[in-house]
Amino acid sequence: MSAKSRPLFDPRFSERDNPEAKIWDVKPPQSLIDDLRAFTVKTGTPDLWRFHCHSKPPENSPPPRVIATNIDIPESLRASVGKAPCPLCSLRGPRYFYAMLGWWPDEKALRVIGHECGHKFWGVGFDVETRRFELEKDDDANLGFLIDNFRQVAPMRKTIEQIQPTARFLDRLRRRFFSVVSKKNIQTINRSLDSNFGRLGLYDEITTTFTDSRGNESRKQIPSLVEDIHLNGRQMLAIGNDSADIHLYRAEQNLKGLDLPSDDSFIDELGRLDMDGRKHAADNLKEAWKAIKEAVEVCTATQEFFASENLRAFARWASDHRAPVQLRIREDRLGRFDAAHRTHSMQIIPGSPELKIALPRVPILVWKESRRVT
Ligand SMILES: [Zn+2]
Repeated sequence: MSAKSRPLFDPRFSERDNPEAKIWDVKPPQSLIDDLRAFTVKTGTPDLWRFHCHSKPPENSPPPRVIATNIDIPESLRASVGKAPCPLCSLRGPRYFYAMLGWWPDEKALRVIGHECGHKFWGVGFDVETRRFELEKDDDANLGFLIDNFRQVAPMRKTIEQIQPTARFLDRLRRRFFSVVSKKNIQTINRSLDSNFGRLGLYDEITTTFTDSRGNESRKQIPSLVEDIHLNGRQMLAIGNDSADIHLYRAEQNLKGLDLPSDDSFIDELGRLDMDGRKHAADNLKEAWKAIKEAVEVCTATQEFFASENLRAFARWASDHRAPVQLRIREDRLGRFDAAHRTHSMQIIPGSPELKIALPRVPILVWKESRRVT
C-alpha cells in the first residue's frame, strides 16, 4: 500500500490511548528500546509499537524524559508506509520519518514523537531534557568503558616499564641519526621514496631521441631506473622530534590515580565519582593507552629502520654516486655503523641488542566507540 493510496479511515491515524501500556513508573530498560528499534526497522511504523500511546499528553504536561533518539523509519520502507503520525502535533496525519522516544513518568506512558516536535512543543524545557539524555548516554558509555577496562591499568603500567629502557635507547639513536642526516636530506630521501613507490631508486641518465609533431628530431636526457632498494621502517624518517619516551611519560601521567588495588575498591571508587569524574577517568585511560601505542609505533619504526640488513641497504643506496643524497655510512667488523655527512662529524650508530628486543604487546582495551545505550 503506497502512502498516496491510503484509505480514508486508517487505524494508524486515529487516537488510541493504550491504557494497558501505561505501566512505566520506572525508566524502561534498554531491552525495551532495542525492541522498539527492531520493530521500527522491520515495519517502518513505530506508531504501531505495542507500548506507544497514540494520544496527546495531558494539558500543561511537563516535557517528557527523553529515553531514546535516532529512531528512524528505514529508507527502504518509506515509500510504502509513508510518514508516521505524531501524538504531539499530528495524531491523525503523517508527520515524521525521524523520531525519538519520550517517557511521561507521571502518566507511566511512552510515546514515539517526531524528532523535532518536542522542541516545538516545549521549547527550552525540552532542550534541557535532550541535553540530560545526551549527558546520561555519555556517562553510561564512560562507566561501561571503565568497568570493561580498569583491570588493564596494571598491565599498562607494566608495559610502560618494560618499554622504557628500549624507548630511551632508540630515541637517542634516532636523535643521533638526525644530527648527521639533515632535515633537507631527509626530505630528499622521502621524495625519492614517494616517486618510486616506497623504494629507493638509483637512476642512470640516458639519452633518447624525440620526434615532435613537425617532424623535428631532438635529444633529451631522461632518468632510467637501474636499481631499486627496499627500505623498512620508513616511518622513522617522518618521526623527526617525536620521542617514544615522552609518549610513555604522558601515559604514566594519565594512569595516575587509576590503579587501585582490587576490583571492589575500583567499583567503590566509581560509585564515589560524579559524572565529570567518570568522564575524566575514562578519558585518562584512553589517553594513556593511545600514548603507549604511539610509543610502540615510534620504537617499532626505529627498530625496523636501524636493523642491520636495512641500514646496510640504506647505506648502499646513500653512498652510491647516483643517489640524490650522499651519505657515508660504513659498517665495521663488529657490526657497528659509522654515519657521516660531508659537512658533519662522524657519528657512530652501533648495531645493538636494543634493536632486536621484541616490544611487549600493548594490552587490549574494549573500546565501543558508540556503546548503544539509547
Ligand atoms: Zn510532532
